[in-house]
Amino acid sequence: MSSRDKATSKDKASSLAARLARLGIVHETDLALHLPLRYEDYTARVPLSQLRAGMSVCAEGVVTANELQYRPRRQWVCMLESGEENDLSALVLRFFTFYPNQQKALALGTRVRVFGEVREGYFGLEMVHPKFTVLGAKASHEVSLSSRLTPVYPTTAGLTQEVLARQIARVLQHEVVLRDDLPEAVRQQEGLWAWPQALRFLHAPPPGLSEKEHTALSTHTHPAWQRIKFDELLAQQLSLKRHKAARARRRAEALKHHGTLTDVLLQRLPFTLTKAQRHVWKEIGDDLARVVPMHRLLQGDVGSGKTVVAALAALRTVENNRQVALMAPTEILAEQHYHKLSAWLDGLPIRLAWLSGTLTAAQHKKTLTMLSDGEPVLAIGTHALFQKDVTMPNLALAIVDEQHRFGVAQRLALRDKGAGTEEVHQLMMSATPIPRTLAMSFYADLDVSVIDALPPGRTPVATRLVNQKRRSEIIAHVGKRCADGAQTYWVCPLIEESENLSLQAAQTLYEELVASFDGDSETADGASLPKLEVGLLHGRMKPADKTATMEAFVRGDIHILVATTVIEVGVDVPNASIMVIEHAERFGLAQLHQLRGRVGRGLRESQCILLFEAPLGAMAKARLKVIFENNDGFEIARQDLRIRGPGELLGARQSGVPLLRFADPERDEALLERASRVADQLLKTEEGETAAVKLIDRWLGDKAEFFKV
Ligand code: ADP
Ligand code: MG
Repeated sequence: MSSRDKATSKDKASSLAARLARLGIVHETDLALHLPLRYEDYTARVPLSQLRAGMSVCAEGVVTANELQYRPRRQWVCMLESGEENDLSALVLRFFTFYPNQQKALALGTRVRVFGEVREGYFGLEMVHPKFTVLGAKASHEVSLSSRLTPVYPTTAGLTQEVLARQIARVLQHEVVLRDDLPEAVRQQEGLWAWPQALRFLHAPPPGLSEKEHTALSTHTHPAWQRIKFDELLAQQLSLKRHKAARARRRAEALKHHGTLTDVLLQRLPFTLTKAQRHVWKEIGDDLARVVPMHRLLQGDVGSGKTVVAALAALRTVENNRQVALMAPTEILAEQHYHKLSAWLDGLPIRLAWLSGTLTAAQHKKTLTMLSDGEPVLAIGTHALFQKDVTMPNLALAIVDEQHRFGVAQRLALRDKGAGTEEVHQLMMSATPIPRTLAMSFYADLDVSVIDALPPGRTPVATRLVNQKRRSEIIAHVGKRCADGAQTYWVCPLIEESENLSLQAAQTLYEELVASFDGDSETADGASLPKLEVGLLHGRMKPADKTATMEAFVRGDIHILVATTVIEVGVDVPNASIMVIEHAERFGLAQLHQLRGRVGRGLRESQCILLFEAPLGAMAKARLKVIFENNDGFEIARQDLRIRGPGELLGARQSGVPLLRFADPERDEALLERASRVADQLLKTEEGETAAVKLIDRWLGDKAEFFKV
């Protein structure tokens, strides 16, 4: 072999490796886990008269016409007919790339067998680029059909099904690929298929499958699929649970109950804690009193009262002469926490620090010095809190509000503000409820507390869906209510592609409403409109202006606040009772729920008016139906999961975390429960630990690191 030949064959190998890598396939075990998307059935011939669009089949016929066409582009088109009397069914074959010998093979009168997906074409049913075999003079039964289902793999440009299948078949001979990681006793206890059996079955289903098995294969309920999905879920559970166990071996400061601040706060609150709040505060308080770092997610629907629980945890920390940081994702929300806590804590011996991007250099420096002193303090702020220049040597608790808005790295940066060998307790809060199955799956390393009831005295929010065409009625309606003392949030249309356009839309809406409520205007239908104060709030405003506008709204000086989604999280103005959302069809479900949660917090009857523009797309229609019919955040999140899948719902926590490829926590709930139980069982024995390491390695490999947050 010349040196040049060698280079070419090496290039070939490396380009194959590169293509495989594009599919995430690096190791042999990855190839084995590259499972078929679906199967094509070429095991039986379907008569032309029974073909339907969407079928992937094998069919037979005689070429009765063929020609080269040039429009819309050059293509070779053949017509197949059954060749039997009284059967006029036909199938068009269409080739956009073809060779002269293929054209020759498909000569008039030739009997051929074709394999491919049938679709609805311009002239009836057709197959594009079918595989075909010329039957020639042989009777069709003499040419054997494929005996097995043909797997179809996810693939990438330049990598054919045949090449992939060959590579996979090759590694299915290898011991490391076929190794069963599950201890035999556990496998039997769970009634699961053996690993090699499952892999082989999925890559090369045996001949003669029953209709039932065939269906089970395509719906992923077949025992072979069950085994694969079980292992995937098990590996995830093991990874998370081992991480949790490792945390239990680390140390944090035990923050004991003294009551000097917490008891005082409880006495001065204008309300008493709900049963649900007392319950989660006990869970959190117990955690804080232990020497093991807390890693807890506090979930509660919008308006359920998480802030006061966070305040209690913060005070417990300061009672122990330690520092605590409370971080919120937006300036408005952080500031609101600061104001609310300042009011609650007024006169108590506790220092509050405020840190945001808006401080002057001098103020900023002063705050940093105070924090780095190590004096007990409650620091409240935005992203500014975890910047490099901030040190809190005495930090014992980090609280992250609306945690799904932050990335993993940001939360870790905050946690690492502490000094010394001790770890910081972490309390994460979220109003984006995570359905049980998802929590079990992706949050298995966290402890979760749930506030499952709203404080008393809330008025349910009535939701209305209103066509954009009727906006003048809505303007009149809002005007009347506001003249009676109500306050309204009016949310601008979301324009994802461009912040400038969003801003423009906000400005236009603001001007429209200012003009409507200037005191001498009327609606298109002649209803007179009252004089009202309209305010504007958007993300590009100077922080000081934002604050001023928000304060005016809180005081009641502004009746209608035109706002972008900066008000989406956490904002709390109990007197506001009307929420109007422009182009509600553009918003996601979680966002709509959050926005609607801004009202219904006071005594007034509350309304959420969703303006939409017809016609609605299918997804938008589904979302609006869900938000219209449901008030419960958990139910909405569950439906959201249905509509969108888990990826987005998990938010930033999961950025970089591999999602499950085969198992679906919602659909495979029973399997997930079993995997969770088996994970606990395995982690109790040395043999089980060994199995765990292998399972995690096979499924997560280097990605396992991402789970260790
Ligand atoms: P979220 O859970 O959405 O962060 P907040 O903590 O902002 O909710 O609380 C929403 C509102 O409910 C606030 O005005 C808060 O003061 C009030 N609140 C909280 N707990 C109670 C309670 N037990 N009784 C009455 N009102 C409460
Ligand atoms: Mg909140």
